[in-house]
Amino acid sequence: MIRINDNYSKLTASYLFADIARRVDAFAAAHPGRPVIRLGIGDVTEPLPAACVDALHGAADEMSRRATFRGYGPEQGYPFLRELIARHDYAARGCRVEPDEIFVSDGAKCDCANIQEIFSADARLAIPDPVYPVYVDTNVMAGRTGPPADGRYAGILYLDSTASNGYVPAVPDAPADLVYLCFPNNPTGAVATRAQLAAWVAYAKRNRAVILFDSAYEAYVRDPALPRSIYEVEGARDVAIEFRSFSKTAGFTGTRCAYAVVPKALAAADAAGRPQSLHALWSRRQTTKFNGVSYPVQRAAAAVYSDAGREQVRALADFYLGNARLIRAAMARLGLPCAGGENAPYIWVNVGRPSWEFFDLLLERAQVVCTPGVGFGRCGEGHVRISAFNSREKVEEALARIAAALG
Ligand code: PLP
Repeated sequence: MIRINDNYSKLTASYLFADIARRVDAFAAAHPGRPVIRLGIGDVTEPLPAACVDALHGAADEMSRRATFRGYGPEQGYPFLRELIARHDYAARGCRVEPDEIFVSDGAKCDCANIQEIFSADARLAIPDPVYPVYVDTNVMAGRTGPPADGRYAGILYLDSTASNGYVPAVPDAPADLVYLCFPNNPTGAVATRAQLAAWVAYAKRNRAVILFDSAYEAYVRDPALPRSIYEVEGARDVAIEFRSFSKTAGFTGTRCAYAVVPKALAAADAAGRPQSLHALWSRRQTTKFNGVSYPVQRAAAAVYSDAGREQVRALADFYLGNARLIRAAMARLGLPCAGGENAPYIWVNVGRPSWEFFDLLLERAQVVCTPGVGFGRCGEGHVRISAFNSREKVEEALARIAAALG
């Protein structure tokens, strides 16, 4: 009989959100009269910006006419979108990123998951704890780790992010080849300063490592002193790949559009020790395995950079940040220390008891769903993540219920 990829058998338990859904479904079935408010999963709730909707309609009309119909587009994305990204997301912030260094995709999740394919099977990994689970799980699937023990996999250098380092991991003494970083962070909402990122860039140069920088939440950074891209740090073009997404910037979680930046100068060694272009490898990978994002969706993404679009996406992020402020204030009134929520849509609450215990308590007493921090890594124990992605009405009701139940 054909064998499965046994690395999949190493994956611990089920995916975090499946676990949460199971508990919430069981609660809802047992208490049909107590409606649950979900501040758990990080999905947006507000409609697409009007500029994006108009662009979608316009592109659908183009697709309806022979003269303007489009079939397969470039796998890397249409030049109109790549040029706008380079100009607005990078040049305007003083970063040099060429349009042909941008690879448009249908999600930062796929990009973060797939990028490991272009690196060697024995690449040494450094991954923050806690963090978005995709980085660890995709490397487990690829066979870069041993089996799990105590919630961790042998073969990964975990970068502990705790209250004592402000949830921004320090550069380790040990070397690594591939370093995953995510700022603003999911789940902690922490954002690395320019100096902290500069230390990581120096580390990567010293160790000839590559940084995989996930800035899916950069649109939430409001403090002008904080970097929104790793390319704001001198020298980062030589060592870093960056991932971004329209999901949380413009409400595209169901529309699907994102991009990866792979600088042309970035190189890694082949078996003979000769430097090879990572841009060329990623291009080869994408053109082989991916057929591009649909034309209407790329037009909708391009509309994010119009005058109206820029105003609308700013207002959208401001709205969620308003929710985050309310959540932070409510946690402070309960005496629970928290991080995040100021330049990020997540509030990381130190609940002073096991995460799942607090999750069950909140569900049982307030019918509010949060995300247990331990689901993001061992260092997440004792914390929960509360998401600001919801309507104002639901956030206010959830906070009132939490205050009544725990206050
Ligand atoms: N990266 C981080 C850190 C995320 O939290 C998420 C989604 O929650 C993603 C990437 C996925 O983004 P996308 O919707 O573009 O796949």
